[in-house]
Amino acid sequence: MEGHNSCVIDSGASDHISGNTSLLSTISFQEKSHFITLANGSKTSSKGVGQAILSPSLYLKFVLFVPNCPFNLISLSQLTKTLNCSVTFDNKSFVIQERGSGRQIGEGYEAGGLYHFGSRPRVSCVAAPNPKMLHDRLGHPHLSKLKKMFPELSRLQTLECESCQLGKHVRSTFPKRSQSKCTSSFSVIHSDIWGPSRVSSFGFRYFVTFIDEYSRCTWVYLMKDRSELLSLFTSFLNEIKNQFGQVIKILRSDNAKEYFSSALSNVLSSHGILHQSTCPHTPQQNGIAERKNRHLVETARTLLLSANVPVHHWGDAILTAGFLINRMPSSSLNHKVPFSILFPENPLFHTSPRVFGCVCFVHDMSPRLDKLSARSLKCVFLGYSRLQKGYRCYSPETKKYYMSANVTFFEQTPYFSPSVQDVHVIQQVLPIPMVEYNISNVPVTPSLDQSPPEPSSPPIDSLQHRTPTTSPVV
Ligand SMILES: [Zn+2]
Repeated sequence: MEGHNSCVIDSGASDHISGNTSLLSTISFQEKSHFITLANGSKTSSKGVGQAILSPSLYLKFVLFVPNCPFNLISLSQLTKTLNCSVTFDNKSFVIQERGSGRQIGEGYEAGGLYHFGSRPRVSCVAAPNPKMLHDRLGHPHLSKLKKMFPELSRLQTLECESCQLGKHVRSTFPKRSQSKCTSSFSVIHSDIWGPSRVSSFGFRYFVTFIDEYSRCTWVYLMKDRSELLSLFTSFLNEIKNQFGQVIKILRSDNAKEYFSSALSNVLSSHGILHQSTCPHTPQQNGIAERKNRHLVETARTLLLSANVPVHHWGDAILTAGFLINRMPSSSLNHKVPFSILFPENPLFHTSPRVFGCVCFVHDMSPRLDKLSARSLKCVFLGYSRLQKGYRCYSPETKKYYMSANVTFFEQTPYFSPSVQDVHVIQQVLPIPMVEYNISNVPVTPSLDQSPPEPSSPPIDSLQHRTPTTSPVV
């Protein structure tokens, strides 16, 4: 049993019991003792009854005060009856949710075979963040990047992750040909189109990236057709102008014909943007964009594999990879973080990162629902929103996306079972882009890469139906 203040959920107790007056906000002493039989058969008696406030949204009435009782028991049957709630257990934790609304009103953790109410106490000999959990949340970055972000992990020698082994090819080191020469953001933009994918992701078969050479911050857009390049580039251009007051001076791309359409050429020339394309057969000149696409695809594959997420969600995985990669230190920037270069005042994450593909419950707090409507929906967590403080969740049951900040996560439980698909399907659908370069110059050494962090998730947000969007993720 933990400290005297710890409250344990007990399925065998018919009443709440406490021996600790400091836990009770009110107490009235009884003249007549109330006899209680404990689980071990012994008898004891209560001397009073009181109320215990366990959290702002959970208080227990009728807690029997038993002097010298070494523990505090929460009767499961009393709890569910008097508070009209449900309690869901797994092997590590439990959550208490209001029936009907699904609102979480309490939680707890398993320790020593008992379920304790409250947050797991921090034990000083255990590193506060679990390195594997951080690695999973942040998109499977290489250990060296994780250490840059969490210096407390500096002594960690290895981090085993099967998904990383499966998702990422042994990578050849790219020749580091050009350190960034540009001295201001958005003066040079690199772009590349990936696709078509053999499997569409809700109609999307391509993605395009726009990368700011100075900050390496990347805008990723999903596309149904390559012809959407024009409209996406135009909206990117406008965003840079309006949000940053900057003008793009150079667009660098390969020789894909969409970059040479007369409509795009007109847009470029009307804004005075020079278009630099690679010489034929030397795509390595577009190295920044190609490397970025490769990084995105590798990360997306790993995200899908690590949680058995069906491959038609590759679009979600690519957008999530883009969001996370923008928030991890980049070796091309001397380990600075792209997002922080462009947004030095903003927190890296407006909501705490979570494990892609895990089970989550989206709570609907919108007033239009009557009290009897189900207000909690089991979903799979599939990413972030850059414009809303919320998580992007999908219900395979309703076949809808939901953006919400009011979400409960079971991060250690993947939504999908392992048998859904095998590795080869993902490898075929998301082939890692081949990047050509002069082989004789390049030492072939294995290396894996990626990663980011942070928390704070306010509640309030109504359950909104979302269709998959082309939304850029920055
Ligand atoms: Zn990994």
